[in-house]
Amino acid sequence: MSHADSAPSSITAARYHDLMVPNYAPADFVPVRGRGARVWTTDGRELIDFGGGIAVNSLGHCHPALVEALHEQAQQLWHVSNVVTNVPALALADALCQATFAERVFFCNSGAEANEAALKLARRRAAMVHGADKHEIISFSDSFHGRTLFTVSVGGQPKYAEHFGPLPGGIRHLPYNDAAALEAAVSDRTCAVIVEPIRGEGGVVPADPAFLAAARRACEAHDALLIFDEVQSGVGRTGSLYAYTQSPVVPDILTTAKGLGGGFPIGGMLTTAAIAEHLPVGSHGTTFGGNPLGCAVARRVLDIVNEPGFLATVGEKGAAMAQAVARMGRQHGVFEAVRGQGMLLGGVTAPAWRGRARDIVAAGHEAGVWCLVAGGDVVRFAPPLVLDDDEMREGLERLDRALAGLR
Ligand SMILES: *Cc1c(COP(=O)(O)O)cnc(C)c1O
Repeated sequence: MSHADSAPSSITAARYHDLMVPNYAPADFVPVRGRGARVWTTDGRELIDFGGGIAVNSLGHCHPALVEALHEQAQQLWHVSNVVTNVPALALADALCQATFAERVFFCNSGAEANEAALKLARRRAAMVHGADKHEIISFSDSFHGRTLFTVSVGGQPKYAEHFGPLPGGIRHLPYNDAAALEAAVSDRTCAVIVEPIRGEGGVVPADPAFLAAARRACEAHDALLIFDEVQSGVGRTGSLYAYTQSPVVPDILTTAKGLGGGFPIGGMLTTAAIAEHLPVGSHGTTFGGNPLGCAVARRVLDIVNEPGFLATVGEKGAAMAQAVARMGRQHGVFEAVRGQGMLLGGVTAPAWRGRARDIVAAGHEAGVWCLVAGGDVVRFAPPLVLDDDEMREGLERLDRALAGLR
């Protein structure tokens, strides 16, 4: 039986260019079905998914427990708006608060929206407590926080904000992992420092513990809020439920999305009760945020990721994968190092392959393994956290073949 059965024959990857706004450059294959870490395409190819829909499919494709959660909720209630609350949203908020520093949760539909809420909350709190002068947001070079106008302005990749001006003001960018520059820059005018505990899009670069500690101290000294953007690093990706738990530093606000819904769109902003007070009735909102479908699925994701022993397997599998990729990268002269944490890994291209991460990923597609880039110089691996031994072995074999073919 062909796995392409469900795809109308007139739909091919090439039609993208006739039908869609050209802001993406999709690969030449079109997935139609997925199970675990495997996907099948309209033209009958099978690929091992080492990208997880960009760190989203935390439990792989069509995990039976998530299919069940979605199916059960779909027969109960889909959408009610925030004119009322709903049981799945409260249950998910409860689970998130029990598992983290948080005491209050705001739900939305994406990472950018979670960051938008965090940044607006930080601005509003500073304005209410200290006055309008305390509005400066400090962010870092090569960081990524989403694609809304505010989040591309706060993000540290100027190309994403180019030609979209005028941009929101009061934002400063500092070098990442430079504790001294950070301590010198934070002042009484600072309302928030926003940082990724592991820079994801910007090359898979973990933050130094000393840098995060400096951020915490500087925020404390000037009553600024420390925002951790864990949209990519959260929900088990690094081997802990959230990466912040791997250092003594606790943020004031944490944003989460991507892996939270395991493929169903949902985002969240987590904070303390005292800070949450500064988003009172009417100050912020979103129609779909906290909808029962997304919350029911995310609740099941959290239950599974929090099962005893689950997170330890993420660390083990990530370490094994990092070792294998480093070995074949050296052997074929393609990667000079592998960095990251848990199952968020970056193969750093060797000098001969600088700037050509995209070509390496394309060679992987040909060999039947689906990896991602993180900038021009890094091949990113963010496979399903439930990747099994066969999927890992077969994906790595295919990657090895792809890298060998590049020599
Ligand atoms: C992907 C990402 C975002 C944006 O999330 P969207 O759901 O695409 O809006 C924000 N921050 C980080 C760290 C991300 O990796």
